[in-house]
Amino acid sequence: MVDKTQKLATLAELVDSLGDSRKATEKGLLSLCEERFSAVFFLRLKTCNASTGFGVSLSSVFCDTESLQDRFYPFSSVFTKGADLLYQILKNPTDLVIEDENLDIAVRRLLAFISNSDSMNFIKDLDRQASVRLKNKTALSVALAEHLFGKLSLRKSYTINTRFKSEVDKCQCGCGTSIKYRFGDTSIGQETVWHGDLDMVLGAGEDQIPVLLSGMEDSSPETTDEVKPKSLHYPHIKHQMLAQTILFSFLQKKDFPESRHFLVPSIGVSPKEVIFFFYDSENDVLIQSVKMPLRSGTGVCYSTIIAIWMTLNYRHLGSGITSLSQAPKSNFLNLAKDVIDIYQNDLNLGGIQGSFLEDTLYPQDIPKEKMVFWGAQKFEFGN
Ligand SMILES: [Zn+2]
Repeated sequence: MVDKTQKLATLAELVDSLGDSRKATEKGLLSLCEERFSAVFFLRLKTCNASTGFGVSLSSVFCDTESLQDRFYPFSSVFTKGADLLYQILKNPTDLVIEDENLDIAVRRLLAFISNSDSMNFIKDLDRQASVRLKNKTALSVALAEHLFGKLSLRKSYTINTRFKSEVDKCQCGCGTSIKYRFGDTSIGQETVWHGDLDMVLGAGEDQIPVLLSGMEDSSPETTDEVKPKSLHYPHIKHQMLAQTILFSFLQKKDFPESRHFLVPSIGVSPKEVIFFFYDSENDVLIQSVKMPLRSGTGVCYSTIIAIWMTLNYRHLGSGITSLSQAPKSNFLNLAKDVIDIYQNDLNLGGIQGSFLEDTLYPQDIPKEKMVFWGAQKFEFGN
């Protein structure tokens, strides 16, 4: 909440405080609106195991997709509102007042992030830190939540998969922030369909976004906690990213049916890159971005920072699929039609215990009267 009595810097002052970064921010925005370096495209599912009749954990999800790559769209296509707003602010911030309180806070978050050298240095140094201090999933997820996602979101809260919990109760980047109460239940889905633990859930309520960490040898939290600082491994994360994106969109639609749109994002992140997936469970449209680098040379990749900011605040800055003419269907509603009512009505965040596995029968479970004998064969042994 903005305290109206408190004297806040004007937007013009904040834009001024960007200094040399203002030009880079303008270029970053233009890149999101015009260039292929941050393009998005549609995906179509050829087959998937969303309706097998038994529970499938996120680590076993399978989605065979074809990317519809005859057309690519600039990233801003799904954030026309955010792009317009940022353009207005950078172009002419004098006397500009943003009436919507949420939008005002969101804009201040971005400008504060870019003009803060600690925040920008965190990005510049992340790849190196991932080999030094942020070597495991816990340390990396905490640092990303504290110093990147939390700084750019309207809601600073986040929950990290409780399986990542370690004895360490401080952020390992060196800031010393307590993370004692940041771990919790991140399970999602429904035991009879896709379900499992998300690495991290950012935000709260209507503003929640699932995050998957990548750049490690084994992304399964059950087997190893070690992170190898490298790029996003697409074949490794694709299936889980798709499943968590689709699950989250259905879940948000069920819990917040009054929302402006249901094009809900999901973020994949490594110490070097991010990737975004979006699913609209109302219109059955699936969108993926290209991989976007966090750094550009020795500096920060501004277009990626702006893309993260737009995605984190998609409720306020997103425009849904309205600007994408004739968005093709992803085919999920058709592939999962036998169990679609479960996806639409029964998904939960938290409290998902594990698979619903049908055990085989023991002989004593079979009632005698249910045995059927053909009577054709009569065996008799002599005495
Ligand atoms: Zn820290």
